[in-house]
Amino acid sequence: MTRFRTYHEVSHDTGSHLLEQVVEQGERLKARLDRIGTVVAVASGKGGVGKSAVTANLAALLAQGGLEVGVVDADLNGPSIGRMLGALGARLADEPDGIVPARGAAGVRVISMELLQDEEDAPLRWREPGGHTYLWQSSVEATALREFLGDVAWGDLDVLLVDVPPGTDKIRRLLELVPGLGGTLVVTTPSELSRSVVARSLRLIHEAEVPVVGLVSNMSGYLCPDCGGLHALFPGTAPEELAARFEVPIWGEIPFDPRLGASTDRGMPWVLEDPEGAVADAFRSVARRVREELLGGRRP
Ligand code: ADP
Repeated sequence: MTRFRTYHEVSHDTGSHLLEQVVEQGERLKARLDRIGTVVAVASGKGGVGKSAVTANLAALLAQGGLEVGVVDADLNGPSIGRMLGALGARLADEPDGIVPARGAAGVRVISMELLQDEEDAPLRWREPGGHTYLWQSSVEATALREFLGDVAWGDLDVLLVDVPPGTDKIRRLLELVPGLGGTLVVTTPSELSRSVVARSLRLIHEAEVPVVGLVSNMSGYLCPDCGGLHALFPGTAPEELAARFEVPIWGEIPFDPRLGASTDRGMPWVLEDPEGAVADAFRSVARRVREELLGGRRP
């Protein structure tokens, strides 16, 4: 017959062990981070601005240039980086040193919740005690981010890109885990509707004194397939306004190109598929800034 333990037994046994676990986890995290040249957050104000596509293409380009690159997809509910890097379906080996990240396009090491789900398209379900879905979601996200950083056998990396879901609390949490965050790329679009959210994120990053912040203006124009020219796609100058207001540079302007979306969503970052095109040029400018400003000009 099942005997339920009393509160005292539980808090005594499990409680002390829990503390050890937390300390160990903190030490593991520190040891992992010591082997990573720089950790860079990729953030945005809201979903759908192309943050994941930018992360995947930038990661592939940096890796193709000879850097050791890792990507953490911290978005639990709409993870897409594993797919965009062509790593969907990869088996993750569980080694004594930790989970071995999947290898995606150009050898990028990637960890994402979608690589851990059994069924493709299965939504992640939270148990919902008392209906506190939001609290549960945040705490699960916090735990997952800590584990993705500390319990994954990243090895030696030049750069680890962390795709942070929208929301200032997510950036704050990453800063708690990685106090020495190297920099943040903020992806936005000319028509960014929730400019105030991006502004809040930038203010937070500013307050946290993250040393390097760059803006990436995505979908900043339409690349005409017939004439090759760049036409304005959306009215709006959100990136320019944010850059002026927060005194942050724009590191790149990525054109809207349906081929970028189609190819990247299929698992082949467009910069690898069309390395001579205008989109790859634009990403090369972002990659150059990342190398110069965050990696001390380190070149492969
Ligand atoms: P987010 O991560 O911000 O939610 P995604 O990266 O998932 O957004 O992008 C949303 C969709 O837009 C994806 O299908 C993606 O491939 C596409 N996309 C992103 N940037 C571009 C672009 N510059 N040109 C064309 N399609 C793009």
